Amino acid sequence: MTTTTTATVHIDHYIDGRVDDLDAETRGEVYNPATGQVTGLVALGTTKDVDEAVRVAATAFEAWAATPPHIRARILFRFRDLVERDIDRLSAIITAEHGKVLSDARGEVVRGLEVVEFACGIPQQLKGEFSENVSRAVDAVSLRQPLGVVAGISPFNFPAMVPMWMFPVALACGNTFVMKPSEKDPTLSVELAKLLTEAGLPKGVFNVVQGDRTAVDALLAHADVEAVSFVGSTPVAEYVHRTATAHGKRVQALGGAKNHMVVMPDADLDQAVAALMGAAYGSAGERCMAISVVVPVGDDTADALRERLVTALADLKVGPGTQDQVEMGPLVTKAHRDKVAHYLAVGVDAGAELVVDGRRNQFPGHEGGFFLGGSLFDHVTPDMRIYREEIFGPVLAMVRAQSFAEALQLVNDHEFGNGTAIFTADGNTARTFLTKVKAGMVGINVPIPVPMAFHSFGGWKRSLFGDHHIHGPEGVRFYTRYKTATTRWPDDTKVRAEYSMPTHG
Ligand code: NAD
Repeated sequence: MTTTTTATVHIDHYIDGRVDDLDAETRGEVYNPATGQVTGLVALGTTKDVDEAVRVAATAFEAWAATPPHIRARILFRFRDLVERDIDRLSAIITAEHGKVLSDARGEVVRGLEVVEFACGIPQQLKGEFSENVSRAVDAVSLRQPLGVVAGISPFNFPAMVPMWMFPVALACGNTFVMKPSEKDPTLSVELAKLLTEAGLPKGVFNVVQGDRTAVDALLAHADVEAVSFVGSTPVAEYVHRTATAHGKRVQALGGAKNHMVVMPDADLDQAVAALMGAAYGSAGERCMAISVVVPVGDDTADALRERLVTALADLKVGPGTQDQVEMGPLVTKAHRDKVAHYLAVGVDAGAELVVDGRRNQFPGHEGGFFLGGSLFDHVTPDMRIYREEIFGPVLAMVRAQSFAEALQLVNDHEFGNGTAIFTADGNTARTFLTKVKAGMVGINVPIPVPMAFHSFGGWKRSLFGDHHIHGPEGVRFYTRYKTATTRWPDDTKVRAEYSMPTHG
């Protein structure tokens, strides 16, 4: 990345309880997507910088792991209150670097806070198991113990929520943490780190290393990193999983998506259209749970849906995320906006009907911003690239199916299996869908079924590499190691050597 800019704000690492540039040799540009201006220069961490962050985290581990869980939880309680105190300031930072509208930015902070609230109950989650008298005068106890230093690598689209899917549970379980946020919107992780310190978290327990793939590669190969949580695109998720497991680490790597919403002929179409507008165009489609494919069953359903979507799209208010009434902000970078716009051309070339073309939207007064209007394709077929590939922008593809069975097959045949939804008034259809669909998160008349913090989040197929979903009970399992002890104390029993397998007879 070039650094030909007059911007003076430097965004640095956070290591050992303070902001540190570690003599940053290279920096990347951070934009305000609504203006197109460079607003900051982020340090791009080197292998040496990662070594320093991991060293600090490893040093802090023993004392933190020995801190009783309810004391760790108390610090997270205070952190929760501080985030709430600062929520307006934090949301403004998200909108300034990501572009999403302020209410959406606030929403992601709240969803992150719910994971903190779950982590505040960690003493209950770590209670372990005890069996009395598994043999005469012998007891068994199972514990969950922290892993050590764990790393988190996050994408640009949720700079608050995705890091908060990871570190609250990891810290509550007694691990120390090194976070590598997206270099596109890197400020929020540092702000969260400052609030953790203010809440009383000991130095070195939570650290942030800024950077790109160099920092990621250093984390994946570092001998003292025990586990890696990754969220991002599928090719990188697969690479992270392969590389980190080859280095002996525990890995959960959440990848990309192509989420389908099936609309049955008996669905409430007003409800379905309102749901689709939010799910396809909210956050400019830059959500891993965005609906990017709608599958109406029957041509009558498709025609009615299409007509209503065209009307709704004409009313969609696109503009800077800081403006009241705006419903959809810009895309994150110019390169990403251009990539999404290119997909519109690819779809037309393949024979899909571009019913609404977001490239036609004008943004007077905001020409420098990375804006694109919402688009709608009809008559998309499964062989087309715009169907197979994740576009990650405000583009909805309509694939017409003639039966429920055909719609279900479409969802199940797609390489991604993150989320999916069905809109129907029929309980049996909904139940069959839930039972048979191959996706990790399912909505029944709910378009974006993101699980609450006390459940776990994750997809199937090429939307997740690894065995554990993220946060909730799966998060506790991921960030702890299971240990079982069998105990006996000297008593009057005469003990003889046993040469056969003990059978507790
Ligand atoms: P990305 O894969 O480009 O980047 C994610 C992280 O990986 C960033 O921190 C980045 O610095 C790093 N990275 C990028 N390229 C790398 C490489 N070659 N080697 C090593 N590290 C690399 O993803 P993004 O564009 O920031 O985010 C959008 C993607 O994330 C979409 O595909 C979206 O579906 C996905 N996502 C998935 C979920 C989920 O829960 N499944 C949630 C949010 C986002």
